[in-house]
Amino acid sequence: MADPRGFLKVRERELPENRPVAVRLRDWKDVHAHLEEGQVFLKEQAGRCMDCGIPFCHQGCPLGNLIPEWNDLVYREQWADAIDRLHETNNFPEFTGRVCPAPCESSCVLGINQPAVTIKNVEVSIIDEAFARGYVTPQVPQRLTGSTVAVVGSGPAGLAAAQQLTRAGHTVAVYERDDAIGGLLRYGIPDFKLEKVHIDRRIAQMQAEGTRFRPSVEIGIDITWDELRARYDAVVVATGATVPRDLAIPGRELSGTHFAMDFLHQANAVAAGREVADQITATDKHVIIIGGGDTGSDCLGTSLRQGAASVTTLAIGKQPPQERAASQPWPTDPILFEVSSSHEEGGERAYLASTVELVGDDQGTVRALRVAETEYLPDGRRVPKEGTEREIPADLVLVAMGFTGPETDSITQQVGAALTPRGLVHRDDDYASGLPGVFVAGDAGRGQSLIVWAIAEGRAAAASVDAFLQGGTELPAPVRASTVSLRA
Ligand SMILES: Cc1cc2nc3c(=O)[nH]c(=O)nc-3n(C[C@H](O)[C@H](O)[C@H](O)COP(=O)(O)OP(=O)(O)OC[C@H]3O[C@@H](n4cnc5c(N)ncnc54)[C@H](O)[C@@H]3O)c2cc1C
Ligand code: SF4
Repeated sequence: MADPRGFLKVRERELPENRPVAVRLRDWKDVHAHLEEGQVFLKEQAGRCMDCGIPFCHQGCPLGNLIPEWNDLVYREQWADAIDRLHETNNFPEFTGRVCPAPCESSCVLGINQPAVTIKNVEVSIIDEAFARGYVTPQVPQRLTGSTVAVVGSGPAGLAAAQQLTRAGHTVAVYERDDAIGGLLRYGIPDFKLEKVHIDRRIAQMQAEGTRFRPSVEIGIDITWDELRARYDAVVVATGATVPRDLAIPGRELSGTHFAMDFLHQANAVAAGREVADQITATDKHVIIIGGGDTGSDCLGTSLRQGAASVTTLAIGKQPPQERAASQPWPTDPILFEVSSSHEEGGERAYLASTVELVGDDQGTVRALRVAETEYLPDGRRVPKEGTEREIPADLVLVAMGFTGPETDSITQQVGAALTPRGLVHRDDDYASGLPGVFVAGDAGRGQSLIVWAIAEGRAAAASVDAFLQGGTELPAPVRASTVSLRA
């Protein structure tokens, strides 16, 4: 245990300051200042960990990160051991340490009567320090098995599966239809939350270990699924849940209305120095974002950086509470009112806002959104309340209402993969699709989720693939496909 009296001496959480809003809105760089400013109090925060007999944070983290162990090592400044412990359960702490919503902190035992330990910031500090000290080196397998694996999709699930399988000695190729590797880490999440240098650095390590990357190849089109199965001994489907939920209201066809991911994909490409013809931009426009989740918040930060005239985010439901409700007790991960870094930067947030109609001008371009107050019916349905309609000016409307599931046409038609009633790619509890040698990991099988779940599933699916190829495995499997989160 780091400091037996640590949690009594330091009762508050302390985190590095974010860069000032006025400064960070002028660039696309990370809003957070992690290690440099944080180090002074990092040790104190790690020292608040009580090393409880039953560390519920292990349960809260889908990866089962060994949090009390690395808190102790950070307190003692044993950075090499700390990164070894962290890498034992997490292939990519530089992603989770930056953008994980940290369900571990919701289940921290200290959180029962004090603010939780700043686990996520300790995590990112360990990996940043490890990279700075040169502790992150390629782990080249000692021997090759001769088996080949194709991983389809290069998001966190695909990358985690690929790294585990390469290190187990299999020859692994990652196929990605985008021109760059990373999935939503690359083209969904903006640089101000996750700079792309972190992905590139990890890809370089993976290439040195032997993983091969094949960007700009779409399986189902450039190579069919059956060709892929014939070429490889096993296939991991990690194609994400990329079909956006649409807004079924009159006026949806008006120009100036776009899915959030079309906007974010282009903005991220431009931030990376690529040319995008006819880019959708928020510059000088009144922007309305429909949907209050992570995607909506990323659209907000991006719109503000592009110089929007105004940005309004609409959510159909009630504003979540600031504190745990009685129905969401510790150690569940409660639904709370969240203020992301983008929310700190500006824009309006409206709750109980039901969209009624998009209103256009003579040229067929959106000019306003008609919205009403949400009314909850006794059967739980949410409808626009009569007599409460109003118009909000809008030049750009971004639909950020989540994702219904994966794109499945080619995999069902070409190899007859089964789907669940929710339209996800079916797998059993060990990630096997039912087609011999085909496994399913991440959002494609779970539905739109979180990076930490995608990494956990990629690791666990790799264990199943290894067992299929070798007849047994020593790879860890942190979650079953049916494992559910502690979210209340
Ligand atoms: C805008 C946005 C912001 C988010 N922010 C956060 C956050 O802050 N924190 C968090 O924890 N989670 C966040 N999420 C969720 C998180 O990004 C996802 O849960 C996670 O990336 C899923 O990982 P995955 O590997 O399953 O799929 P993805 O990351 O979606 O990757 C799938 C990849 O497969 C590729 N692909 C699909 N079909 C094919 C094919 N046929 N052939 C070849 N390639 C194919 C796609 O191009 C894509 O690159 C966010 C999601 C979005 C949309
Ligand atoms: S990956 Fe997420 S849940 Fe796990 S320790 Fe890190 S911040 Fe917490």
